[in-house]
Amino acid sequence: MEKMKRRSAIATIGAVSLGLASPRLLKADVLQKPYAVKKEILKTDILVIGGGTAGVIAAIQAGRAGCSTILVENGSMLGGTTTTGGVSFPGIFFAWGKQIISGIGWELVQEAVTLNDDELPDFSRPHGRQHWHHQVRVNGPLYAILAEEKCIEAGVSLRFYETPVNITGNRNGWTVTTMGKGTQTEIQCNQLIDCTGNAYAASIAGLSVLREAETQPGTLMFEIGGYDYNRLDMDMVKSRFSEAVQRGELVKGEFYNVDALLRSGGDNVQHVAGADSTTSETHTVANIAGRASLLRTVRFLRTLPGLEKLKILDMQNETAVRETYRIDGLYQVTQEDYVTGRVFDDAVSYSYYPIDLHDEHGVIPKQLKEGMVATVPLRSLIPKNSRNFLVAGRCLSSDRLANSALRVQASCMGMGQAASAAAVLANQQGKSPHEISIAALHELLAAHGAVVPTV
Ligand SMILES: Cc1cc2nc3c(=O)[nH]c(=O)nc-3n(C[C@H](O)[C@H](O)[C@H](O)COP(=O)(O)OP(=O)(O)OC[C@H]3O[C@@H](n4cnc5c(N)ncnc54)[C@H](O)[C@@H]3O)c2cc1C
Repeated sequence: MEKMKRRSAIATIGAVSLGLASPRLLKADVLQKPYAVKKEILKTDILVIGGGTAGVIAAIQAGRAGCSTILVENGSMLGGTTTTGGVSFPGIFFAWGKQIISGIGWELVQEAVTLNDDELPDFSRPHGRQHWHHQVRVNGPLYAILAEEKCIEAGVSLRFYETPVNITGNRNGWTVTTMGKGTQTEIQCNQLIDCTGNAYAASIAGLSVLREAETQPGTLMFEIGGYDYNRLDMDMVKSRFSEAVQRGELVKGEFYNVDALLRSGGDNVQHVAGADSTTSETHTVANIAGRASLLRTVRFLRTLPGLEKLKILDMQNETAVRETYRIDGLYQVTQEDYVTGRVFDDAVSYSYYPIDLHDEHGVIPKQLKEGMVATVPLRSLIPKNSRNFLVAGRCLSSDRLANSALRVQASCMGMGQAASAAAVLANQQGKSPHEISIAALHELLAAHGAVVPTV
């Protein structure tokens, strides 16, 4: 009797809200059944955690090299900071007129550029002190779909909306329990690659991780419009803006340059202090802070002459984060290694970017001396006291200043491919990544189109 009443109530609500009576609405009864969690045990050669800038490349490389591969991503699409974070201008693939990072990342970037009728920068022209001229603007959503297509073509099994809650090592690999929406999965893998950007998997696995007392700010990427920049009285805007900061109406350092904000109409102009993406809790705080900052600023700017109609045209789903945890690896790349272009015996990819540490005052990039290109040693991708475990991306083992350059996207893509190729060889040979031959690793990487560092 109770059930009948509930059924007819659901049908009535449906009919009222849709303005018609449809017997199909009775299917809503299905929702009354208990929501069962699907439990599964899966086995794979290689498990990649995190489908971001480095992780998609790692997964594609493993799949293309013939390994069974699972990619676990807690978001809803691939690409991480490059796509979900809206930092869709990867750099830097060329240094001093030569290509230093190619392979799978470059393949994806080129396809995204072609399919969007965009143009590549002229890499033969030196960028001078404006290194961003050598970054490649890509259509973020398109990049995400292309990455997904390439993962599927490579046979990678994608698991969105999942995250590890337990990681236990054994003699031959790792057992990783992931939780998702209606899923609880035990994944048994031979090799694990942490591409979370936060060394999250390493930390859950009990490996040691490093973090600074103070980290770089994050940024919520957005686009504003509805005004004509050329008709603005910028002296008035700047002085009213700084008065609002002094009054405490706006937060100091959030938008360190209102002129840049209005000229560019958004993009990479905001700073969210302490933004941390490591856990759901910290990332929630960072997201709310980024969005509140935008709302506060929009409300204020709309009180100024010429900006009355300013509006938000677009906004990313989350605050992009620059710095959290990194692993304590077999080797820690130092700033000195980076700026002197040290070529390690176990170098597996190149990296080229200025030292680029953001703080509350903004950033003053320190350009590398002419001819310098840094390298990434395999040991910096392997946590101390680990077996069958690698990382790729910004959480590699490095000191803070080296990390501020190593973290950029082309470098992360190069690391993703290199870490994965190391995992492939380790898997084939029943070894741990630190035991494989670097020459064999270079050979595999070259066969998959990567540029391999040479002494
Ligand atoms: C505002 C900003 C501006 C930047 N500007 C530039 C620039 O101009 N040029 C440039 O090249 N680089 C730039 N960078 C740096 C660069 O974008 C990042 O350092 C790089 O993309 C990091 O790559 P990653 O693979 O390590 O991490 P990400 O790309 O962030 O990928 C990590 C992935 O792991 C997933 N993940 C995280 N935790 C879990 C978990 N527990 N379970 C499952 N999945 C998880 C995330 O959802 C994400 O998809 C910028 C960064 C920021 C934040």
